[in-house]
Amino acid sequence: MGQNQSSCVMQQKKKKENGVFASAVANGELEVVEAMIKDDVTVLDSTVGRAKLSPLHLAAANVLVENLFKVAVLSMLLDRNVKVDVLNRHKQTPLMLAVMHGKTGCMEKLILAGANILMFDSIRRRTCLHYAAYYGHVDCLKTILSSAHSSPVADSWGFARFVNIRDGNGATPLHLAARHRRLECLHSLLDNGALVCASTGGYGFPGRTPLHMAARGGSVDCVRMLLAWGAERLQLDSSGRIPFTVALKHKHRTCAALLDPSSAAPLVWPSPLKFISELNHEAKALLENALLEANREREKTVLKDNDISSSPLHSDSKYDDDIVSDSEESNMELCCICFDQVCTIEVKPCDHQMCAHCTLALCCLKKPDPATGCTTGPLCPFCRGPILQLTVAEIKTSSDTEVESSPITKPRRSRKSNFSEGSSSFKSLSAIGSFGRIAGRNSGKIDAESNEGFIKS
Ligand SMILES: [Zn+2]
Ligand SMILES: [Zn+2]
Repeated sequence: MGQNQSSCVMQQKKKKENGVFASAVANGELEVVEAMIKDDVTVLDSTVGRAKLSPLHLAAANVLVENLFKVAVLSMLLDRNVKVDVLNRHKQTPLMLAVMHGKTGCMEKLILAGANILMFDSIRRRTCLHYAAYYGHVDCLKTILSSAHSSPVADSWGFARFVNIRDGNGATPLHLAARHRRLECLHSLLDNGALVCASTGGYGFPGRTPLHMAARGGSVDCVRMLLAWGAERLQLDSSGRIPFTVALKHKHRTCAALLDPSSAAPLVWPSPLKFISELNHEAKALLENALLEANREREKTVLKDNDISSSPLHSDSKYDDDIVSDSEESNMELCCICFDQVCTIEVKPCDHQMCAHCTLALCCLKKPDPATGCTTGPLCPFCRGPILQLTVAEIKTSSDTEVESSPITKPRRSRKSNFSEGSSSFKSLSAIGSFGRIAGRNSGKIDAESNEGFIKS
């Protein structure tokens, strides 16, 4: 009897001690934590709360990255060889919690310490990549992706498969980013080879696509981006609905207008073209911006037809800063195709220059051969030579002095610029109805070849 009583007291004492230890870890009190471990090393094996959080979970989730002192607790725990992938009640790793809370500094330390990025929780069978997309922490997402390139995951699973990893409901990280309106994550995932038409039903089975999810979430930006990356407006989910129906049901009128299969199809990023997959960062940013801008112009007509005012929903205002003053612009070399925009892209090897909009229109015109799926690249419109590479053109003024970087990185929006009402020569390039999609891009399968090209970029 007496023995029972004393063990009960001991247990309570231990429990209290664990609580103190946990709060010291969570608050980053390094000295307290060290002293308590020195006193009784078993506190390292303690867990707290219903979720059974280990000290490492607490350190990963609660520390403030800004506060070096608090990251120090995490480092100290890792130095003591605590198990880096210790699981809580929901089979979540400390890495998942760090990602959930957007603690980039912590997750980097955990990954360095060998944390496995390919663990699945027991709630929805999600990975840390799902967490990053769901919570919209784009820095965490990028860190995971770059680690996936070098980690054993790349060897065992392959990078493309990891990016398109499915949770218990069949959702890929791209689905979650689309559903929760995480535009930056959406972009980063697409950029890393996420399949834009992946189905939650699995390969070859009907299910929801990221576009269905974006229609449900109601983010116009996400819908716009998915369409520009080749998402299919007519793909059915398991209940036979297209994304348009989903958007209507949830009263997202603007999304619905863009998703209406009878409205004009947007331009699609010409990813199968070899030189597009090899673009350098700057040239890519220019062309991507041109693509989104061009689609925004097309949208204006669509929205007008649907009697939806575009102004509050569009991010046009952010381009205002980029409008170059008339005098400055008149000194710039104008694109010889549209005579409207400044030449920002240079074709290699012939060195001819065009604006980003015209370059893009040229690339989007070419459809791949349906039989082989391979694309013959477009030719330079000036010399009819092959385009092997696109680079950012040096912006010259008439006095031939270089303008320092600032205008290069962002597309300029000229006073009267726009795709749909552009000059006639440009119209001939852009108005032909074949912008649409690029076959092969839309299949829900992992196409090893096309992904490889995409990923290397
Ligand atoms: Zn042009
Ligand atoms: Zn040329």
